[in-house]
Amino acid sequence: MTTAPVIDPATEAVLTHVELADDAAADAAIARAVAAGPAWRALAPGDRARLLRRFAEEVDADLEHLAGLEVRNAGHTIGNARWEAGNVRDVLHFAAGMPERLSGSQIPVADGVNITFQEPLGVVGIIVPWNFPMPIAAWGFGPALAAGNTVVLKPAELTPLTALRLGELALRAGLPEGVLQIVPGRGAVVGQRFVTHPAVRKVVFTGSTGVGKQIMAGCAAQVKRVTLELGGKSANIVFADADLERAAATAPYGVFDNAGQDCCARSRILVQRGVFDRFLELLEPAVAGVRVGDPADESTEMGPLISAAHRDRVAAFVEPDTRIAFTGTAPSGPGFWYPPTVVLPQDPRDRLLTEEVFGPVVAVVAFEDEAEAIALANATDYGLSGSIWTNDLGRALRVSRAVEAGNLSVNSHSSVRYWTPFGGYKQSGLGRELGPDAALAFTETKNVFLAT
Ligand code: NAP
Ligand code: MG
Repeated sequence: MTTAPVIDPATEAVLTHVELADDAAADAAIARAVAAGPAWRALAPGDRARLLRRFAEEVDADLEHLAGLEVRNAGHTIGNARWEAGNVRDVLHFAAGMPERLSGSQIPVADGVNITFQEPLGVVGIIVPWNFPMPIAAWGFGPALAAGNTVVLKPAELTPLTALRLGELALRAGLPEGVLQIVPGRGAVVGQRFVTHPAVRKVVFTGSTGVGKQIMAGCAAQVKRVTLELGGKSANIVFADADLERAAATAPYGVFDNAGQDCCARSRILVQRGVFDRFLELLEPAVAGVRVGDPADESTEMGPLISAAHRDRVAAFVEPDTRIAFTGTAPSGPGFWYPPTVVLPQDPRDRLLTEEVFGPVVAVVAFEDEAEAIALANATDYGLSGSIWTNDLGRALRVSRAVEAGNLSVNSHSSVRYWTPFGGYKQSGLGRELGPDAALAFTETKNVFLAT
């Protein structure tokens, strides 16, 4: 086994080293997950529910510790990290309500009785990125476990610490050995093994669209089930009739939260031409006011980027001839800092308008009317999220229906609630997570006819 250093992106200090699984270790984990399967699926629904509730309680009792780990490992602000650990707890409580509700249906037929069963798939492999290590892990393992599957989960190499802790808490809660295993390792090794190993019956992948396509192609060889949560280039559409002050005051948080490392980041702001200049005037102090710094400080609103390589990647988007409207602040010295940056691309083919930056860079563009706003919003291969600012209810609904994206919010930037469905149109993904049907994505529907 090899080990990899785990680095604090706010200080560049090495926090610890984590062992990386090789192919043999991944196979051994998958074998344990297979072995744990029959007893887990045979558990009475109420008993599985009780264990998930206990798991939620362990997470709640460990909330400050988990949040502190994420502050150090991922540079998340302490406020965000607490929300994320709380989200894991809430997803587990929500999942704990699922086992007794996988009720199937009884369908009227002639000469007999027809019933459906929601059967677990078997072993589910979850591949997690570094941007939201805790919530993204839980959105997969909560419903997967509730539906009677066992889980192997690969955290991102950069951010394994909270996932490893969640694995410990699951055991402490009484989940049997092998039911939820955390398997740190390289994507091309452990992640790839989830794709190729025939005992893994579903892969849940969150990450880049490029890797997501490879995963989907790899899964095709076994017609393996797959859920993909990929990138985004979401639009924040501001109409002239909107509450412009509020739209401008909140726009930075719609894109710079988590330093822009958010698949739902509203990284394009589309503003109706008549209020374009006024909007920029209002946006400038809002961006200057974003508090960037030590993520452990309670008042900090934005921390560092995840790594030196990622900062280089983000910085490369802003070229010498890019028109920069204004920037916010960022600390100097150690840490992978990048200031909030507002750009005004002049060419619709500019990469800043078409590619996911995954950093604190937002492009502002003018539009004439509703039709042009919709056309611009949809002029992307992505379709994850977006916001619509208007006080016209009819327009809010028309535009919500016309924008090709899975998660929209009107007069706010909220995207994710664990009890509502989440996922992307077009190349932002395949399938949905969370919401009332979350467990169904981890089952096969079996139809049985009994002749009478
Ligand atoms: P990535 O390469 O897609 O990685 C996501 C996860 O997939 C990580 O756990 C990674 O493992 C694993 N992985 C990588 N290659 C794999 C392979 N061939 N087979 C199986 N698993 C594999 O994403 P990234 O490099 O972290 O980020 C790059 C870009 O992806 C970002 O800049 C952003 O555009 C996008 N992104 C989107 C989201 C989202 O929430 N939609 C999240 C993160 C990133 P290791 O990293 O441990 O090797
Ligand atoms: Mg990668």
